[in-house]
Amino acid sequence: MDSIPYDKEMQNTSYLELSQSALNNNIQFIRKNITENRILSCVVKGNAYGHGIDKFVPMLLKAGVKHISVFSSFEAHQVKLATGKKNVTIMIMGDISEEDFEWVIKSKIEFFVFDIYRLKRAIELAKKLKMKALVHLEVETGMHRLGLEKEELPIALELLKENKKYIQFKGICTHYAGAESVANHIRVKDQIKRFNRALTFFKKNNFEPDLVHAACSAASLRFPKTRGDLVRIGILQYGFWPSEETFITYCNKRNDYSNPLSPVISWKSRVMSLKRVKVGEFIGYGNSYMANENKKLAVIPLGYTNGFARSLSNSGRVIINDFRTQVVGTVNMNAITVDVTALDNIAIGDEVILIGKSDSAEVTVSSFANFTDQLNYEVLARLPKDIERRVV
Ligand SMILES: *Cc1c(COP(=O)(O)O)cnc(C)c1O
Repeated sequence: MDSIPYDKEMQNTSYLELSQSALNNNIQFIRKNITENRILSCVVKGNAYGHGIDKFVPMLLKAGVKHISVFSSFEAHQVKLATGKKNVTIMIMGDISEEDFEWVIKSKIEFFVFDIYRLKRAIELAKKLKMKALVHLEVETGMHRLGLEKEELPIALELLKENKKYIQFKGICTHYAGAESVANHIRVKDQIKRFNRALTFFKKNNFEPDLVHAACSAASLRFPKTRGDLVRIGILQYGFWPSEETFITYCNKRNDYSNPLSPVISWKSRVMSLKRVKVGEFIGYGNSYMANENKKLAVIPLGYTNGFARSLSNSGRVIINDFRTQVVGTVNMNAITVDVTALDNIAIGDEVILIGKSDSAEVTVSSFANFTDQLNYEVLARLPKDIERRVV
C-alpha cells in the first residue's frame, strides 16, 4: 500500500510550451524599435497574459529584463518568488491589499498612487516603518478609470513636499484609453495634452519625478512621442500585436509585410481516442452536426473547462500531423471531436496543436480569438492556470 507514489508528477490533458528563443526575438525587436535608451518594463499581469508568472519571469530575466510591472500586490509577490534575490524592479500599477501594503513598502516595490487616499496611507505606513515608499503618481487624463484629477495635483504636490523623507517621487504616469485603434485617435491626443499639462505643473513647481511614463505597446508604436523615460510593454513581448490595425499601420510605414514578432506560446494536447461514424449520424450532444459522409473522428481530452471556448463548436481549428482540421459538434466540458477523415496514419497519442505551428500549418491566437469574438489578450489571459508550462 505505502509504495504508491502519491507525489508522482501527473500529466494533465494538455500543456503550454513557452519558447525562450521567441521571447528573445521579441525583446530584441522592442529594444531596437521602441526602448532604445529607455527603461523597458515588461508587464506580466493576468498571470503573464496566461503564460504563467512562475515560468515566464525567469525567461524574462534570461532575456536581460530588469523591470517588471504587475497589476496587484498579489502578483508582485508571485514575481518576487520567481526572481528571488535578483536585482529586479517590480512596479504595481493597480491594487494593493491593505494587509500587504507594509510588505510592498518593505520589499521596495514601486507602486502607482492614483488617489489622495492611497498617498496618505503610503505616507502613514512609510513613517511607521521608517522607510521610503517608492511612488509613481498616476494622472487622470481621460481614461476615467484610475488617476489623480487636475484639482488633486496641488494637494499631492504638497503632501510629497512635506514628506520627502518618506516618499520617493519615482514617477509620474498615465494610461491611454485605446491607442490600438485609430477610432480613438482624438481621445488619445487629448490625453497626451492633459498629461503634458500635468508635467508642466510639476516642472513649474520645481518638483519633478525621476521618470515620466505613459506608453503601452500600442501607444509606443503609434505615438512615439509618448515613450518618455520608460515604456510598459505587455502584449508585444509575448509575440502578439495589440490589434490587427497596429500591425498593418506598422507594416505600411515600412512597406514590409513580414511579421517581426514570434508567439512565445503554443498549446498542445494529444489524441485520446479514434472512432468512425456513418453518413447521416449526429456527432456529440444535440444535433448541431450531422456527418455528411462516412467520417473518422479523433477525440481530444479538452473542453470549455480548459479554456477551449464553447463558441468554437463546429468552427475551432486544430493541427494533427501537420494537417489543419476542424472541430465537429459542440465543445463539451472536457472533450472535443475533430474531423480526421483525411488522415490515414493517425494514431492514439498523436500530438494535437490547439494554438501554434507545425511545418506547414498554423492556428494563431488571433484566429482563435476571431472565432470566439474575444480579444487575443482575453484568449491568452484565460488559458488554464493548472496546466503545465514547459519552457523550450
Ligand atoms: C496592461 C497595461 C499595460 C500594457 O499593455 P499592452 O497593451 O499589453 O502593452 C501598460 N500599462 C498599464 C497601466 C496596463 O494596465
